[in-house]
Amino acid sequence: MNYCPRCGSRLGVKVDGGRERPACTAEGCRFIHFGDFSIGCGAVVLRDGKALLIQRGINPNRGAWQIPGGYVEADEEIIDGVEREVLEEAGIVAKFSDVIGFRHALASPTANIYVVFRLDLVSGEPKYDGDETLDAGFFSMDEIGRMEQVQGFSLWSIQRALELPRGAGMTLDQTGLTTGRPGWSLFGVNGK
Ligand SMILES: [Zn+2]
Repeated sequence: MNYCPRCGSRLGVKVDGGRERPACTAEGCRFIHFGDFSIGCGAVVLRDGKALLIQRGINPNRGAWQIPGGYVEADEEIIDGVEREVLEEAGIVAKFSDVIGFRHALASPTANIYVVFRLDLVSGEPKYDGDETLDAGFFSMDEIGRMEQVQGFSLWSIQRALELPRGAGMTLDQTGLTTGRPGWSLFGVNGK
């Protein structure tokens, strides 16, 4: 990266937070490149004790089974992102319930945080496009145990969702801290 993505000026180097980082040299532009990060999201959706899984149609891991999910857009609220991915990948309308966990991964070239949600089923039957997804459906733990190539992280997430009472994960803060702040989504554990 040689030029500022905000103003196009040449990048120099600035010490910020104890580390040298690429930074814009233009007067008034305060761009500093802190690194490349991405945010993923996925969802456990249960129906009668069975979990929604999709079979990947694209590499890496074409043919593997996993919970539906994908990347959150930079200008998208994360709950909208996960509900969109479930609809796009599996044809299922489902709404936010709680957060089951998240995984941080250091991987080249992009560090990634992947948040796993539990969503409540609203409507729809599992669909797949035969391209991005080869198959989709609701499966019991017995059935999942007999399937080949089930992603370990998805299995971990489904087990958590089956064990945790609904709402026992992190729920969305609805206090004055966030209600006046468009674009904020704050999730926390329940003390009650
Ligand atoms: Zn700049």
